Amino acid sequence: MRLRLRLKKLKANKMWRACKLAFSIMVILLFILASWSISYFITPYLINWAGWSVTDYWAFVLVCIVALLLLGAVIGILFPLARNKHLAFYQSIVDAVKQISRGDFDVKIKPHEDFEDEYGALVESINHMAGELGQMERMRQEFISNVSHEIQSPLTSIRGFARVLQNEELTEDERQHYLYIIEMETMRLSKLSDNLLKLTSLESDHHPMEPVLFRLDSQIRKLILVSEPQWSAKELDIDLNLAKVSIKADEEMLSQVWVNLIHNAIKFTPDNGSIRIDMKKSDAYVEVVVQDSGIGIKADQLPHVFERFFKADVSRNRTQGGNGLGLSIVQKIVQLHKGTIAVVSTRGVGSTFTVKLPLCMVDEGVPVVRNSPPK
Ligand code: ADP
Repeated sequence: MRLRLRLKKLKANKMWRACKLAFSIMVILLFILASWSISYFITPYLINWAGWSVTDYWAFVLVCIVALLLLGAVIGILFPLARNKHLAFYQSIVDAVKQISRGDFDVKIKPHEDFEDEYGALVESINHMAGELGQMERMRQEFISNVSHEIQSPLTSIRGFARVLQNEELTEDERQHYLYIIEMETMRLSKLSDNLLKLTSLESDHHPMEPVLFRLDSQIRKLILVSEPQWSAKELDIDLNLAKVSIKADEEMLSQVWVNLIHNAIKFTPDNGSIRIDMKKSDAYVEVVVQDSGIGIKADQLPHVFERFFKADVSRNRTQGGNGLGLSIVQKIVQLHKGTIAVVSTRGVGSTFTVKLPLCMVDEGVPVVRNSPPK
């Protein structure tokens, strides 16, 4: 639809330019005609006034010379006007580029239909570049303000509790409780810096990928075992249905994907809930589905869950130490592996995250490289 509109606009533009060209040629011809006509009538008076007696041929030559002089005078007046218009437009482009180079991206050059052919593409590119740079700048500022906020809140809490701890009348229990909060907040800060470094490295396009062949099912099984203290403390029911799948991928990076998804599932599922992980394989892909019976995510918040620093439930997150970077990291890693991640969720019922990864260079006959076979 948009393409058709654009084509229509282009066609209309072409026709408009052809009309303008025809009109300009007509005006030039009219000027030539007018110069010659004026010269034809005034030259005999000039010859009379000068008292010359000339033959018809020389009278014709004089008419031509006067006509050319008249035409030259008209061009001499009109050309600088057109040139000034051209220069003014050119200067507006130069000014816009200078403004951008100073870091001010609030630039929009107004296209000029007279210079569409010469500068149209350039003007469009500069406007587009300014728009993109402006968007990046807004994202950068938003990022800085989010980081500052994430750093500021644990620091405020640490300072507050450190001051409370100076009170010598505190009971041992109270003292332990406040020390525990301080420890949690420092861990949160450390996790934030760790996640920020990870995300920056992943987004830098220079993140080293070390693909090795390994058993994906064993990796997930191990991670479930490692996080046993968390899920058994909440008495969660864990159900694993993992097909035997070998994949060639960066083992450490994929481990981060499952850790983040599993930890979120544990974190956002109330006591006695359940977590189910399914893994099935098709010809070219492996699909891992992490499903929980947790609090779920509201429909209007769902499109934002992969955004940096997004937290659906800020108050709950504060107590559970999240910083809203986990799913951004997951998404980036999945993208680096040319896979996809999707989420469906119903508030109060649970969430399902589905990761699809291409099974590039998988060889069923090759022995597992790093993981031990699943028990
Ligand atoms: P965080 O470190 O805060 O968990 P994430 O990027 O991992 O950051 O998640 C972003 C937000 O998405 C979370 O704060 C939470 O609100 C929501 N979320 C993620 N996973 C789940 C889940 N399994 N159930 C409910 N909400 C979730």
